[in-house]
Amino acid sequence: MLSETDDPLVNGKIPSTEGRDPAYFSYYAMLQHQVVFKHSRTQNMLQDTVRTSTYRSAILLNGPLCFHDKLVLDVGAGSGILSYFAVQAGAQKVYAVEASQMAEKMRKLVEAANTAESEALAKNAFLKDKIEVIQAKIEDPDLPIPKVDTIISEPIGVLLIHERMLESYLYARDTFLKPGGTLFPSTGSIFLAPFSDAALWSETMGKARFWEQPSFYGVDLSALYSDAKDEMFGMPVVGSFDPRTLIAQANPGGYVVDFYTVTLEELQDMTIPFIWQASYTGIVHGIAGWFDLHFSPPPSVPTGNTIAMSTGPAAERTHWQQVRFLLKEPLAVNAGQTIQGWMRCVVNEMRSYTIEAEIMVGEGQLTNPTIPLTSIYNLDFNRRRGKWRLHEQTYNYNYYPQSDNLFRPEYNCLYEPEHPLDTTVVVENNFVEDNQFII
Ligand code: SAH
Repeated sequence: MLSETDDPLVNGKIPSTEGRDPAYFSYYAMLQHQVVFKHSRTQNMLQDTVRTSTYRSAILLNGPLCFHDKLVLDVGAGSGILSYFAVQAGAQKVYAVEASQMAEKMRKLVEAANTAESEALAKNAFLKDKIEVIQAKIEDPDLPIPKVDTIISEPIGVLLIHERMLESYLYARDTFLKPGGTLFPSTGSIFLAPFSDAALWSETMGKARFWEQPSFYGVDLSALYSDAKDEMFGMPVVGSFDPRTLIAQANPGGYVVDFYTVTLEELQDMTIPFIWQASYTGIVHGIAGWFDLHFSPPPSVPTGNTIAMSTGPAAERTHWQQVRFLLKEPLAVNAGQTIQGWMRCVVNEMRSYTIEAEIMVGEGQLTNPTIPLTSIYNLDFNRRRGKWRLHEQTYNYNYYPQSDNLFRPEYNCLYEPEHPLDTTVVVENNFVEDNQFII
């Protein structure tokens, strides 16, 4: 259930991110965090080669049209890597805005080019006089930045939206981008699919069951069991997983967030619909999510190159990995059945989102995402709801892609249908209109 403070539609106020700013920006002030992503064992930001090389390809391959001789703004420049790529692509000038102390580090690197006595002594001669480092929040008033031709940024968190930095990206778009200018990235698409992972579910339940004990050193903890279950199952599980544990395929195309057109309000309260067809008979333990990024010049630049990157389970690993939302009570499906529902993501004060989802197998009508769970008394046997807080992440690194070529669906209790499925049942993402909800 979304409490009143979680829901901007209820109290009319958008939760501010400012309370989190000191912790958030001191995290990014450290060089190690520009390279190594928090809590991640193997992946990182600059060293995430999928991420960094996709940005570089997008910038260089669209260099002549979107960067050459252009004014560029880098929102949240960090170490400045995207600004350096923009200069490599021929930018006339790059305004590199970074709120954290990392701006000082970037300045040091840029100054080494600007102040060297000769080009031969300069560390990055190509950067000379090309980059203006501005240590500020992009939202600060009166920044000395003109209207620019192109904005580059990496404002992406887990499930695309965590960290709420996309709001700063949109602010930059609305404040500094010339009409018809380029936004890199241009779209993000969120994908959701049901998964089966009995081990993960049992491990999570194990953490909750600790609180079931009637006599822990003589103390009955069981009054907290239900809270513990809510808490453990309310934590999104970040990590990679085997794509073969998906019971159904995600809707092709996903839920598209077009950065050229999306509004701040839309970003603050999003309902993502889904309709899937089960490929197996098995148990749905929850919903998995990931995203794609696209870099495409605006329609005013029709000859550009679109570059895409996936963070899905079947793609090369990135530091974002994937995220899974466990259901407190799993749901049984038969191969061929449809599974539909929605996931509603509402911004919260933790620079993140409070997420609620409904998932239903077979026939029936979905309930309205804006109706709190407590108001629904008739939750049927074929329907589940869940609630998660995207900032309360837990990590799971049990999957090693190289190690299990012998995987068979039945090892994960997923059973193939004997006859081929009629896959025309679910073609597109035919989300129900509001008036089709039960309540
Ligand atoms: N562009 C860099 C860093 C990305 S991490 C790269 O691609 O490697 C995001 C960076 O944006 C962090 O360094 C963070 O401090 C900064 N940031 C987040 N919100 C910001 C805002 N509102 N204004 C300025 N910088 C911001």
